[in-house]
Amino acid sequence: HPSAPSLMMNSHFASVGEDASQEAYEHGIQVIDEDKVFNESLYTYLNLEKIIPAGFNYHLISVFGSQSTGKSTLLNYLFGTHFGVMAEQDRRQTTKGIWMSKNKRGGSGKGMAENILVMDVEGTDGRERGEDQDFERKSALFALATSEVLIVNIWEHQVGLYQGANMGLLKTVFEVNLQLFVKDSKTIPKSLLFFVIRDHLGTTPLRNLQNTILQDLSRLWSSISKPNGLDNSKIEDYFDFAFVALPHKILQPERFEAEVEKLSTRFREGYNDRKKSGLLDEAELPVFLPQYHRRIPADGFAVYAEGVWDQIVNNKDLDLPTQQELLAQFRCDEISREVLVTFDEKITPLEDKQAEDAKMGKPTVIPGLGTAMNAARANVMKDFETNASRYHKGVYTRKRAELESKVDSRLKALFQKQLSAAHKSGVDNFSNAVISAVKSGQKKGATYDFAQIVESEKKEALAKFESEAQAIMVEGAPWSNFKQEQKLFQKDLDEVSSRLRKEEMRRLATRVERWVRSRLDESIGLEFNKIGTGRGGAGAPEHGERPPSEKNLWDRVWTIFTETVEDSEKRFTDRAQSFDASPEEVEVGLWRLRRKSWGVLRAKIDEEVMEGNILLKLRENFEDKFRYDEHGVPRIWRPTDDIEGLYTKARESTITLIPLLSRFRLVATSAPPPLDAWIGNAPPSVTSADEEDLAPIGGVDEDEGKSLEEEMTILTDAKQADLSVRFKKTADGVYVEAKRSAIGGMTQ
Ligand code: GDP
Ligand code: MG
Repeated sequence: HPSAPSLMMNSHFASVGEDASQEAYEHGIQVIDEDKVFNESLYTYLNLEKIIPAGFNYHLISVFGSQSTGKSTLLNYLFGTHFGVMAEQDRRQTTKGIWMSKNKRGGSGKGMAENILVMDVEGTDGRERGEDQDFERKSALFALATSEVLIVNIWEHQVGLYQGANMGLLKTVFEVNLQLFVKDSKTIPKSLLFFVIRDHLGTTPLRNLQNTILQDLSRLWSSISKPNGLDNSKIEDYFDFAFVALPHKILQPERFEAEVEKLSTRFREGYNDRKKSGLLDEAELPVFLPQYHRRIPADGFAVYAEGVWDQIVNNKDLDLPTQQELLAQFRCDEISREVLVTFDEKITPLEDKQAEDAKMGKPTVIPGLGTAMNAARANVMKDFETNASRYHKGVYTRKRAELESKVDSRLKALFQKQLSAAHKSGVDNFSNAVISAVKSGQKKGATYDFAQIVESEKKEALAKFESEAQAIMVEGAPWSNFKQEQKLFQKDLDEVSSRLRKEEMRRLATRVERWVRSRLDESIGLEFNKIGTGRGGAGAPEHGERPPSEKNLWDRVWTIFTETVEDSEKRFTDRAQSFDASPEEVEVGLWRLRRKSWGVLRAKIDEEVMEGNILLKLRENFEDKFRYDEHGVPRIWRPTDDIEGLYTKARESTITLIPLLSRFRLVATSAPPPLDAWIGNAPPSVTSADEEDLAPIGGVDEDEGKSLEEEMTILTDAKQADLSVRFKKTADGVYVEAKRSAIGGMTQ
């Protein structure tokens, strides 16, 4: 379709002022000029005449006939047009090429159909052109491809002259009709051949003239070569016929005008009622029947006509279905572009907003997006349908789908970006809401219900997401659903919940650890203090036997420790279960708690056996043994006392405490407590993050290269030796003091 793109709808119209154009088109428009050039302004003209928006509600009539048979004169009377006519004395051809004009005789008021276009075709006997019948054939093709009605204008005296010029014309029309419509199409459009017999004297009745013409046409029809299988076809299969006779215009001007007036009423809508209207006089039947219409939408007519003419003038095979498809493609694309302009106006700013948000890294939920998308989509499709659905169904359907997918790919992007913004802000809000609820719960000091906080915030987040997603559902768009995204959103909320719960677990663990630390601080401190008394708590032991406070120290420490931790485990478990921690999470938490608690105990023991502390306790232990008798009464030293013996005994007794203190052992097994078994293996669900802040424990973490024995060593051999020496020095001091006091007591 070479020249179609040059026929952009608006450019022509915009360039020509309406008043100037009205003048320029006073005689109608010369669609085809004498050089067979198609007029590019046809669209402008149709636009000016308000034909463009008419859809199928317009009609096209062509007039054929020999030169100077009063064709233009007739049209001007019939339709109020201003086609050029020959001056009475002049004998030169006036109509050249093909002219077109709109019916000027006020439409429906006069009973005439709306939007009648008339084409006045150059006379056909070639008197002045002296050419062959080339133009005649071409204009016949053009007229048949476009017109519903062909008016054949003949003199009465030409009727029955089988060899006359009119027969040549009609032969051409028939052949061309076969070429166009019959060849390989399934449905054959009918055309109306309307014979207007001029200068009817009245002596021969119209019916006779009519019969003569029909007989001639039948003979003509049988003489032309027809495509295979159509040899027996009748002319009536392809044409309807109508006849009218008009009086001599010059001799009987009043009667002429009256008959023309009468004739004009036949150019009304037929609405297919011709068959039903048996009552009507044949001579009054309406002209325009729907089946004659070529079904070219008015806004596509100029493009179609140009395409058709282009094929004709270049002697190409004129294939109307293809022409109609090409027209449909051209027009559908054009309409598509037009309707997208409005769509763009609505949608582009929203796309820009999203792009900007994305650039800032802050996707936001655009309010009113759903309404805007729904309106834009519905409008663009409706506008397209209104304008394009008149064109070739197949092409229209395809182009509609193209437009829809173009529109939808953009709306879908908007939709999805909005969903992901809703997703992101939903997750953020949820996380913040939970954190701040926990914080305010902590502030109040009350035991807030973490699980409940998560539950209600999650519910709220899901509801918000759903309503935001619901708001951007696009009606009729198959992609418009958010089930998948909703699932993802829920999954993310669950992930965030579990992360927040883990944090909450950590906070709980820290609190419980703190509790363990303070408990152990107190109770373990007390146990070590007992060493200082040297006598232990309960009852006086038999002299020389190590009191339970010393012998059972580690048993008691272990018992206190395990009981304390057991207590704390209960607290931890209860609380963790209250916020829906999984059994695995609880298991990991407890495992961590046991390990951490061991660290707390170990640090506490180390503190107790720090050099100064332990030395003080050994000294107290020694003094208790040395300066008190077996009844717990303080000794008053006398010179006769075996100070040295008592000293040695007490010192040795205290010294034996050092190795006892140095190793964490239970009495029953004289082995370290089963720390490894007590802590247990790492639960299967433990993660490296869970292990990150855990100190290694000898004998528990095998790959540490430290044994349980080593873990349970409180004082090394060197430390013990060093402690021994220091202690002895301290004891020596006490002894010297006792000695002095004994001597001093004597001298007093
Ligand atoms: P066209 O070439 O067929 O368009 O014919 P025109 O409309 O230009 O008319 C040619 C001549 O025929 C003019 O001089 C008209 O006055 C004259 N004419 C128009 N109508 C009639 C008619 O009904 N009868 C006769 N005899 N002459 C007519
Ligand atoms: Mg003329």
